[in-house]
Amino acid sequence: MSVLIKGGRVITAADDYVGDVFVDGERISLIGESLDVAADRVIDAAGKYVLPGCIDPHTHLDMPFGGTVTIDDVESGQTSAAFGGTTCHVDFVIQPQGMTFGDALDEWKAKADGKQVIDMGYHMAITDLKNGGTLEELATLPEQGVTSYKLFMAYKGALMVDDETLFRTMQVAAQSGALVMVHAENGDVIDILVREALAAGHTEPLYHALTRPPEAEGEATNRAIQLAHLAGAPLYVVHVTCREAVEPIARARDAGWNVWGETCTQYFFNSLDDIAKPNFEGAKYVYSPPVRDKSNWDVLWNAVRTDALSVISTDHCAFLWDGQKTMGRDDFSKIPNGGPGLENRLQMIHEFGVRHGRISLNRMVELLATNPAKLFGLYPRKGTIAVGSDADIVIFDPERTHTISAATHHSKSDYNLFEGTEVTGTPELVLLRGQVLVENGELVASPGVGRFVARAKFGQELVPERVPA
Ligand SMILES: [Zn+2]
Repeated sequence: MSVLIKGGRVITAADDYVGDVFVDGERISLIGESLDVAADRVIDAAGKYVLPGCIDPHTHLDMPFGGTVTIDDVESGQTSAAFGGTTCHVDFVIQPQGMTFGDALDEWKAKADGKQVIDMGYHMAITDLKNGGTLEELATLPEQGVTSYKLFMAYKGALMVDDETLFRTMQVAAQSGALVMVHAENGDVIDILVREALAAGHTEPLYHALTRPPEAEGEATNRAIQLAHLAGAPLYVVHVTCREAVEPIARARDAGWNVWGETCTQYFFNSLDDIAKPNFEGAKYVYSPPVRDKSNWDVLWNAVRTDALSVISTDHCAFLWDGQKTMGRDDFSKIPNGGPGLENRLQMIHEFGVRHGRISLNRMVELLATNPAKLFGLYPRKGTIAVGSDADIVIFDPERTHTISAATHHSKSDYNLFEGTEVTGTPELVLLRGQVLVENGELVASPGVGRFVARAKFGQELVPERVPA
């Protein structure tokens, strides 16, 4: 099967030109001006953007959490990603306490089997190095294409690790070729503040945010940066929300340290006003780190513009408001943490980042595709449009309007964090390795089309698969 995409505006992190892209099988094999080649299918992309498929390095599908399981499994989550122009993501394996990393990885792969709509990789979230998982086993994961370790500095009594586990993992990463990722909030302090709030009778969702203050995120971010520097490990701070966390990351990057930061779509748009909504509606906005006051929106836009933050992900971790979030109706600490977002990242960042003049189209591609590919061992097979790269391509109509709504999104969640937002510009056709995934508002490919991708070690390239000579 070959596809010729004609006359589109090809936009990568570095380029912006009108040209033709020829896809032979699963890869891009030719790019040029008015290509004269025969193809099984010709797509007229005049007036459209031709973007590399977006990559989401932060998602949670089919994950047990807070006494329930996220509502999106691999099929529904990845379907929603596909409609939003995301063709590859990296999900978190959460090591169940006492289980080896190998068994945990097998368990997560089994959940994805036959359901994959887009390509995917895994990070390993380490919860326990004393029983089950060992430092020796941890060191072998990069050989299996799992080239990032995640640690939670929050969720005391559940996922949180102590500084010993954090530091030992960083020491292993410095040797094994993995990137260390941290959820940076001080879990001990938050635990005290939560208990104090509940003892004072504060049970409503707003107290989720008030008991997880920016200082707790800033402190943990700085601690992780200093410890990673000491261990000689590269560090990636996930879901940065506020000035207190941006500043230590910017400082470390200015000093030339191997530190990167990510924020997520929702932190540019949701705020304390949302979580304070009455009648338990605020529970829709309960995720961690929490929504912040609006003064942080500009801090985050500046940070993604100046490369203090290098990636925008979604932290898609979807629950039903009615039936799951309601588990915490009388106690905010029992509200499952997380929200949906996989589908709307490109639309929202294009509208409010590019169209509103905050970032360029090239920078948008860099934040949503190229940088995640480079940091997580997928580049240049993914994250760009180049000869030899996988033909993961989004034909994006910059003029078409779309109103974001839970009524039309593809997540199983019964609400959307951006409900009612009208955007101009939306994906029109999405290709995964040369196959049409989404066209005319329909999922065209069948589940099973997506694959596990063994990622390259940190700092190394994932060389495109060569056609045999
Ligand atoms: Zn997360």
